[in-house]
Amino acid sequence: MKVNLIYSPDVHPQAMDGVLEILSSVSGPVEFSLIHMPWSYNHLYEIQQHRYRNDFRFRIESEYKLQEYEASRGYPLSWRELFFLCQKTRRMQDIPDEQFVILVTNRRNSMNFFSMFDRNGERNAFVQASDWDYFLKSPETYPVAYEVVANVLRILMGFDLEKDIKDNFHLDAIGCMNDFCENKSQIILKLRTADLCHDCIQRLESNKVDQQMVAQALQIFEKIRTSLKFSQGFAGNIKPKKITVTKEGSITVGDSELNLTPLEKTILIFFLSYPDGIRLAELDDYELALFAVYQRLKANAAPENIRKLVDNFDGNFSYNKSRLNKKLREQIGEPLANYYIIDGIPGEKFSVALSKDLISIAAEFQSLR
Ligand SMILES: [Zn+2]
Repeated sequence: MKVNLIYSPDVHPQAMDGVLEILSSVSGPVEFSLIHMPWSYNHLYEIQQHRYRNDFRFRIESEYKLQEYEASRGYPLSWRELFFLCQKTRRMQDIPDEQFVILVTNRRNSMNFFSMFDRNGERNAFVQASDWDYFLKSPETYPVAYEVVANVLRILMGFDLEKDIKDNFHLDAIGCMNDFCENKSQIILKLRTADLCHDCIQRLESNKVDQQMVAQALQIFEKIRTSLKFSQGFAGNIKPKKITVTKEGSITVGDSELNLTPLEKTILIFFLSYPDGIRLAELDDYELALFAVYQRLKANAAPENIRKLVDNFDGNFSYNKSRLNKKLREQIGEPLANYYIIDGIPGEKFSVALSKDLISIAAEFQSLR
């Protein structure tokens, strides 16, 4: 089962890399992939102007009742307009009907929902990536990843946009993924419970949804839950352990040595050397320093590997960071791993959460500072 993620031009590509990293952190029957659609910056505007004109804009009362245009509402798009981008992607990329296409957008939508799925039979959904900062002190990547999975499950369990809200959702919040959350702040509850209620599990079963898929979804929810707890400052009684980089280049957390490739070690040592964080767009300023570290860790180190890593346009940093973070989560374990992974708000500085006094780097690797 494949879930294709697309995004509108207003979304930072680093946000999408972050969402994909979270979704791909759990193995299972659902495969997530990111499509970079060649939208122009005027594309959404054009769709409004030429495609849907008056019929589909700014319906606030209901999805079918036209309302006056109000700029103060943040230029919301109608759901149809948002789903149109999913449909256009299907046509341009030849995506089969059984695959999902999920749009991530910063644009607000007519009903002011964080996400919604398309009408019955269309495996489309949109997720809003903006405005989360009112509710959460964490990168939006976590709630967006949650909403992506939630919409896949809702479509699979036969939710229908044309039906009444109460036929799809629980109007009273019970800590289930399908709580309606009329008040947007109620969304915190379901992120905290990371759960599906008994009725919803049964509905998944009666719609013959693969149990492995449900297990995968719940595991992703659990990862999001622990990461959110961590970024909200609730690390509980978990105390971080010291991380040490020896002069031979082995990296230990407490007493256990991490098993990483030379390139992954290079990235980790680099971020440990800059505990205040680095903007990813500035990575190429550090090419020589990164190469110096890489050379210490790998015989016959090829400069191209570092050049490719720091390239702002065509580089593979995001891919390598994701792989590194995944290994750190596996080898260090949750929730402790949250102190060591490289994370940040898309477009701003990325860093490790560990405090400086718990980072010890051999002099041989300190040329970076
Ligand atoms: Zn439920």
